[in-house]
Amino acid sequence: MADATTKFTLPESDIPTHWYNVQADIEWPLDPALHPGTHQPAGPEDFAPLFPMALIGQEVSKERWIEIPDEVRDIYRLWRPTPLFRAHRLEKALGTPARIFYKYEGGSPAGSHKPNTAVAQVYYNKQEGTKRITTETGAGQWGSALAFATNQMGIKAKVYMVSASYKQKPYRKSMIETWGAEVVPSPSPDTKAGRDILAADPDSPGSLGIAISEAVEDAVMRDDTKYALGSVLNHVLMHQTIIGQEAIKQMEMADAYPDMVIGCVGGGSNFAGIAFPFVPDRLKGKKIRFIAVEPEASPSLTRGKFAYDFGDTAGMTPLMKMHTLGHTFVPNPIHAGGLRYHGMAPLVSLLVAHGLIEPRAYHQKTVFDAAVQFARTEGIIPAPEPSHAIRAAIDEALLCKESGEAKTILFHLCGHGNFDMSAYEQYFSGEMVDYAYPEEAIARAMESVPVF
Ligand SMILES: *Cc1c(COP(=O)(O)O)cnc(C)c1O
Repeated sequence: MADATTKFTLPESDIPTHWYNVQADIEWPLDPALHPGTHQPAGPEDFAPLFPMALIGQEVSKERWIEIPDEVRDIYRLWRPTPLFRAHRLEKALGTPARIFYKYEGGSPAGSHKPNTAVAQVYYNKQEGTKRITTETGAGQWGSALAFATNQMGIKAKVYMVSASYKQKPYRKSMIETWGAEVVPSPSPDTKAGRDILAADPDSPGSLGIAISEAVEDAVMRDDTKYALGSVLNHVLMHQTIIGQEAIKQMEMADAYPDMVIGCVGGGSNFAGIAFPFVPDRLKGKKIRFIAVEPEASPSLTRGKFAYDFGDTAGMTPLMKMHTLGHTFVPNPIHAGGLRYHGMAPLVSLLVAHGLIEPRAYHQKTVFDAAVQFARTEGIIPAPEPSHAIRAAIDEALLCKESGEAKTILFHLCGHGNFDMSAYEQYFSGEMVDYAYPEEAIARAMESVPVF
């Protein structure tokens, strides 16, 4: 009986064969990325020092389906398809008539959704002769995913890890090293961008924007090296759509269809991965809500501006039209390290601007309340990032309890929290504090948004 089932699993033959490109279905044009110097639309040649041509092509493609290479699908087999769970125990604890489902990506080698795109990006780099890849990492999930993928395909990697996380999460650093990649705290003395920041502030906790500047500079200085980004860009979001495609099949197995899809947003990729495959239904008039949840400490969707801004702190990357807090924004060191970014994926931003996606922000203590309630009912200890989605899912289920409506909620549990125990420790000891980003600090960082 479908209703008693806890875990909906698919065979390996159901690993999706194509990535879904939402750009084929939305009518609103995506504003082009602009060259950082000339402010003219950036062409393939502007991106060529950083990315292989295949990924540059995917970035601007309007094709609805893009075939996944066999070698990539073969590596996906190590953990895909991922399970969909019915949260029977959480539902019972809440006393809600709502049905809660969650798609779990924590069973990948790196413990999150990130390897879905890491494997694809490394594959295309290898095809085009790249020998070494640089990247940044915030909380360490992306760095470990890239280290896993480069190790599988025999390519070197160097990871610039946000200094605050490097100190807070030593085990993520060790994972990166276990898979054979090099990792340094950012800002580092290895690049000009890093040295400039260190000269102004030797104790800088770093930020994703700073680490991106370093990784990009390293890649453009060397012929054998390219750069990989773990979120934000169109092709990265597209690689994650295998999550939503599997979820659609699994919800059918459960004889259910979501009234709402909920995910956390840092750069937007895990959210897009689960939500975008449902967008065609919504465009055809189906009632389905998409809720994107971010931290109050890094509120780009709820308090930022939809404008062209740089992807990094030093202003080296092309300008993208997105919700931004200003590229000089340095967030407080909250525990959801993966959600500390000044910008947001242009595709997610566009759909928020047109009202298709509802943004929402929470403080970290209430997020950890939800995380602990989830761990004590469903068992899995969630990462701080998807705990934002859990908070929203629980709140929606409690609204159902008040109204008596039996809604169907699907949320994305995009990673486990087994390397985040120091955050849980702070929560239990009562040392955790809520940071809202002060209005004047936002206004100050916003002045760095270029005007032209
Ligand atoms: C990287 C990461 C995030 C944030 O990035 P998105 O691109 O918004 O998905 C959230 N959760 C986990 C577990 C991550 O690893």
